[in-house]
Amino acid sequence: MNIDSRLILLDKIYKIYDDFIESIDVACKKFCSVCCTCNVTITSLESYKILFDLSAAEKKLLQIKLAAKCETQHFIPQTTTNRLAVLCAQDKDIPVEEIDSSWGECPLLTNNACPVYNKRPFGCRAFVSKHNCTETGYAEIDPFVLSVNTLFLQFIEHIDCDGYSGNIMDVMLSFEVQEKNWRNKQISVEPGSRLIKNHPVNILMVPPEHRSRIMPLFKKLKNITI
Ligand code: SF4
Repeated sequence: MNIDSRLILLDKIYKIYDDFIESIDVACKKFCSVCCTCNVTITSLESYKILFDLSAAEKKLLQIKLAAKCETQHFIPQTTTNRLAVLCAQDKDIPVEEIDSSWGECPLLTNNACPVYNKRPFGCRAFVSKHNCTETGYAEIDPFVLSVNTLFLQFIEHIDCDGYSGNIMDVMLSFEVQEKNWRNKQISVEPGSRLIKNHPVNILMVPPEHRSRIMPLFKKLKNITI
């Protein structure tokens, strides 16, 4: 599938998810940016979606912001969702990951708003809370929503399974160098790199108690046409 088709697919996946979130009760409101931390993860396709129609000047400005923040402590995922599903199914050890919201805010955040809001990655869309995090200091995500999030993460990784994932800063900063290989489906990720290779879906990670309730969303994802 070419990149344009995959972008259409990604938009349709986002739309199904955004419609789902509109149908449930969440406390998230415009200009609340508590969850806009530097710990967001993103796939290479999602990074391309944000970057491809920026002007050269906008890209340069973004690179400066990302480069300034990316050497400070931030979440570096050790495995992707689809790889994690396989590790769990095989009863293998799960890599340890360290994350702390006090590591600072997302370098894209500007005046408490996201300048790429309509193109923001799934990691940002999926961070919804049942109550106002500013009052409690933490988010509370319904367990069913967590299962939905995992399902969507698995599909989003699948449509970019020749690509890679990582922290938003590391993926976006690497994209200029990686773009040619990514387009040619020749991504190789060095051991010890901050990037991780994506994988196709082999096993879905939906717990038994959510399987029938999640089925309508699963069918919508499965039946997307472009
Ligand atoms: S990309 Fe946008 S929505 Fe996501 S964390 Fe950064 S500023 Fe917030």
